Amino acid sequence: MMPFEAFEQSTTSVPTVAIIGGGFSGAMVAMHLLRRARVPLSIYLIERQSQVGQGVAYSSPLDCHVMNVPVGSLRLMDDEDGTVGDRPDFLTWLREVAGLASVTAEDFVPRYWFGRYVQASLQAAIAQRHANVQISVIQDEAMQISVGDRYATLHLQRGQRLRVDRVVLALGNSPPASLPIDNLAFHNSASYIESGRSDALDSVLSQPSLLLAGMGLTAVDWVVALHQRGYTGTIHALSRRGLLPQVHRISSAAQAAQSSMRLVVPQEGEDTLLATLPTTVRELTQWIRQRVAIAQSLGYDWRPVFDSLRPYTQSLWQHLPLKEKRRFLRHLRPYWDSHRHRVAPQVYEVVQSLRRSGQLQLHRGQLQTCENSDAGVVVRFRPRGQTHSETLTVGAVINCTGAQTNYREIHHPLIRSLMHQGLMRTDALRLGLDAAPNGAVRNRNGVPSSWLYTLGTACRGQLWETTAIAEIRTQAAALATTLLLPQGGIVPSHGSMIRITHPA
Ligand SMILES: Cc1cc2nc3c(=O)[nH]c(=O)nc-3n(C[C@H](O)[C@H](O)[C@H](O)COP(=O)(O)OP(=O)(O)OC[C@H]3O[C@@H](n4cnc5c(N)ncnc54)[C@H](O)[C@@H]3O)c2cc1C
Repeated sequence: MMPFEAFEQSTTSVPTVAIIGGGFSGAMVAMHLLRRARVPLSIYLIERQSQVGQGVAYSSPLDCHVMNVPVGSLRLMDDEDGTVGDRPDFLTWLREVAGLASVTAEDFVPRYWFGRYVQASLQAAIAQRHANVQISVIQDEAMQISVGDRYATLHLQRGQRLRVDRVVLALGNSPPASLPIDNLAFHNSASYIESGRSDALDSVLSQPSLLLAGMGLTAVDWVVALHQRGYTGTIHALSRRGLLPQVHRISSAAQAAQSSMRLVVPQEGEDTLLATLPTTVRELTQWIRQRVAIAQSLGYDWRPVFDSLRPYTQSLWQHLPLKEKRRFLRHLRPYWDSHRHRVAPQVYEVVQSLRRSGQLQLHRGQLQTCENSDAGVVVRFRPRGQTHSETLTVGAVINCTGAQTNYREIHHPLIRSLMHQGLMRTDALRLGLDAAPNGAVRNRNGVPSSWLYTLGTACRGQLWETTAIAEIRTQAAALATTLLLPQGGIVPSHGSMIRITHPA
């Protein structure tokens, strides 16, 4: 792709918004600002990777890493046509720009196509921006934010300092938490592999066997990537419940659209639904089971229930008291994740064929230790429901347990500096950051910031359903509106003044 055009940097007299993180979330906030701003505004979009708009999810070069949503359901905007300005929708873009003439709305395409589409749409939004709006796309890593009397200063790794009025943290997922093992020193050994490491796949191909710790979407990504690269060794996968992601059935999407009103919203309407949402995990389980039973009586399976629940999941979550949310995380989460985050049929088929051939072996249990030995890594785990331990010997262990969400345990200097200054705090469940409904990050006293915002994964504690495209695009639009609000003097949470001098 063409590199982004770098524009002249803003002067401090122009209100300035810095977006840290140029994955899908950051790119979408930038696109909304570019589309809407008419008065002087300067935007910094800061991304440490070479490509903007792709992030972790859509930068994989592998064909086997496909979207988990069919083409026809992918859109960038909630507007009627779902596009940016005069840009084509994703299906048209794939056919006419990417040259995939035969692609259909039901296809699950490689993720890199979506990343390129986001990138192209951002480039179009940059080209079509109002003359008053400047944007600098900076390839660098934000390391620290210091707060002065009238503005915040962003410190970038290569030494650049940027004066900004508002900051959006669009940081996406952090690296995974450590494995739940006694001997933490194992994490420093060559046989421990962090799932997101760029050279990770190449580094394990010569191993006779592997253990994937975790069985979610990351583990499935690994299984299909190993298969695509011709790996012939044994792949073990271990998780407490042994649940792999379920598969999409294309017909269920259409069914969901037809049946959602009947399955989730009562005849009396949406208000009645929202007034009668379950308040305990037990009620929630029964509530879902009842709707699955209705779906089955109509000839569907459980999928349309989960799909039609989606617009109400955030309300469902917010309705649960804290102790019930904790109960949900302890008991229901693995079942929820495996049904909600489904994989494309072609991915599922690869996983099933490797299971049938015995190359992929699933284990249900709790990881206890990983010890390096002359024969390889000796992995000890306790099978679910058993008191004894079992061992496996593998060439390497790949941590697919998912991102670290506890910001107290995230060691990136930017996060540490913001936590240290008391400018942010974790939510009560340690699923992300504590933030107000408009994305304003709450400081250590719980006061929402007037200049520091976030969206996406970081809002999981408040929203639960917040990590996928549909939710992020809605949040990005709302956040851009907040950022452009014509506020005058803004008192930030630490007590000094940050002012947008030319309100948008
Ligand atoms: C493997 C994978 C597949 C997925 N597939 C789908 C799918 O098919 N459909 C769907 O709806 N959702 C999918 N998702 C969900 C996905 O999280 C969202 O769709 C979306 O891509 C998240 O974007 P993001 O910008 O919030 O995070 P990320 O993609 O993680 O982007 C964050 C960006 O911030 C940058 N960054 C972080 N810290 C700094 C810093 N200090 N300085 C500079 N840059 C920084 C990172 O380099 C990164 O590029 C998938 C997620 C993953 C991980």
